[in-house]
Amino acid sequence: MKNIYLLFICFISQFCIAQQSVRDMRCVRVRSCIDTTNTQFKEIFDFWENYQDDLFRNQFYKDSVCMQKYWAESEFLKYENPDIVLRKTKIYFMLPELFLGIEIRNDTLFEIKSLYSSVYMKPNSDMYLLFSTYVIKKNGNYFLYNKFSENKKKLKEYSKEWLHIYYTDDYKFNNNEAINLFERANKLLKDFDFYQPEPVHYYLAPTYTELLDIAGIDFLFNVYIPSSNIKTGGWSKPDSRLIFYSQGGEANLHEFIHIFIHDFRKNIDFKDYDLDEGFCCYFGDHLGFPYKTHAKRLKIFLNNNPEINLSENLQVAFLVNNKKYYSDTINIKFNYNDTIFLSNFYDDSTNYSYIIMAAICEIAMQKGGIELLKQMLLEITNDNNYEIIEKYLGIKRKDLNSYIRNFLNENY
Ligand SMILES: [Zn+2]
Repeated sequence: MKNIYLLFICFISQFCIAQQSVRDMRCVRVRSCIDTTNTQFKEIFDFWENYQDDLFRNQFYKDSVCMQKYWAESEFLKYENPDIVLRKTKIYFMLPELFLGIEIRNDTLFEIKSLYSSVYMKPNSDMYLLFSTYVIKKNGNYFLYNKFSENKKKLKEYSKEWLHIYYTDDYKFNNNEAINLFERANKLLKDFDFYQPEPVHYYLAPTYTELLDIAGIDFLFNVYIPSSNIKTGGWSKPDSRLIFYSQGGEANLHEFIHIFIHDFRKNIDFKDYDLDEGFCCYFGDHLGFPYKTHAKRLKIFLNNNPEINLSENLQVAFLVNNKKYYSDTINIKFNYNDTIFLSNFYDDSTNYSYIIMAAICEIAMQKGGIELLKQMLLEITNDNNYEIIEKYLGIKRKDLNSYIRNFLNENY
């Protein structure tokens, strides 16, 4: 998901040039059928948009956001960062918004619904996100309140020490798998000398779309696509110690490892680096399959795409005319709309950018074991991948492409 940022580079650069108000830059529209002069509407709408203006200023101008001004106190007691939707999508306030309206639930509770469209798919802009959130009126002020906080009250619970699992009525919960997950997680914590975790809250639903629904999200760009199979997967919010996953989540260690890495780094601001995804895939899993399965797929993929140059970029390559991936697009004709990145935004196939980093983890384990890899985790950012790889693995950037290809061909 984090690679989605790459798609907004053009979009963002326009903002840097434009001298407009933040609200104008955010492209906010209200449905034409709504009476925008209504006092109640104006108050709630302005409150909601002011919040997003502040998020936008924080993103682009580094102005701080006073979350206490916008979120109900109860949400801070439940989550480190109360904006559950923001932590899932990371970007909604940057996208063109169509504000759909407000419904009153009782004298002090309102529900607002908003729709966001993708910019990167211009000119055929697509729907990106649809969600609603509650707004509470208290002492004349408005505060946001997650729908998730209400939805989760209906779930069943299983607890074992630090692990708290919540699942829907129709979820087929496997008790033995849950115990196995707990033991696997504890073994990993011990092997790595990671910190024993604070409670982790794990939410399970039969399908990915139901999972989004629990989180308060009606629609996200990557659903309703795999028409021939059920979409699986999930996500974690390490700073709030939350994980969401579809059926079979009891076997999923990947998202837990994100939280363990977060604890290991003692992050205040949560960052999800490329190496983290590799680490979680290598020691955990990726979409229900172990690293070895994906490593074989990566080997075949790279052999079929010799123009991908991992010394050029470890995360991005361009699919040209729906046939081959290229890292260098200088000498080939391509249409930006026909390009695609190595990450899988839309389906459940292997995310190659993750598995490339998982292969780096395997190489690191062979060269120096867990202590070396832990040191890399502490020093790496997405800007210094090549430097850290050279420093700790002794592989120069110019040699990395052939090194990884040879490594996969020899071992898988
Ligand atoms: Zn991950």
